Amino acid sequence: MRVNDDVHVLELPMLRDGQTFILNLSLVLDPEGGPTLVDAGLPGQEEAIAAALAEAGVAVRDLGRIVLTHQDIDHVGSLHGLARQSCARVLAGAVEAPFIDGRARPRFARPELLEQRPEFRAVIERLQPTPVDEELQDGSRLDLAGGTRVVFTPGHTPGHICLFLERTGTLVAGDALTASEGRLNGPNPGATMDMDAAGRSVGRLAELDVRAVVCYHGGVVADDASGQLRRVAQELAT
Ligand SMILES: [Zn+2]
Repeated sequence: MRVNDDVHVLELPMLRDGQTFILNLSLVLDPEGGPTLVDAGLPGQEEAIAAALAEAGVAVRDLGRIVLTHQDIDHVGSLHGLARQSCARVLAGAVEAPFIDGRARPRFARPELLEQRPEFRAVIERLQPTPVDEELQDGSRLDLAGGTRVVFTPGHTPGHICLFLERTGTLVAGDALTASEGRLNGPNPGATMDMDAAGRSVGRLAELDVRAVVCYHGGVVADDASGQLRRVAQELAT
């Protein structure tokens, strides 16, 4: 799905507890630096991602960069395969990088979680750590789609980042926000480590001049995106 000249959203189906959910990966086009993929689905979704990329006219081998918003398995799952099939540079926030490159155990692979949710074990066993080529900080700038700013948005995980594409006012929100049928909501409380920090992060996002938000869970919010973002920030602050 095309959001604007710079951004396409790739909708990937994911099965959980017998229900189908859609993961919304962002593809950012850039004629000079090549296409950038933001987040990389679950383990084993390389082919589904390749098919979705092809629909947008992009081959995996053409990817210039892959950016990870955070360490969760539905965001980094197919990173290893995609990075190997392309020459893409892998970029992630400095706080999250150790959980992606194998220096630290990601939160979803902690033994106490696996005890509660043993069905995760098979998925996690398929995950391969992947080196991160560039660690991003709050305010880091990427030469992408006319200028892209990294916004540090801790809360869902300790080092979650969002990307703000200045030319189109597109916010790639990862899991810092969710959406349902065009309505913007806060992050999923059941999956968010620190809701107070997450609320403060949304407050920072609400200061940006946002025209469209892409939520990994919930898709695109384009109707009064800025107003909705301020509403969610207010709801989370009270
Ligand atoms: Zn997440």
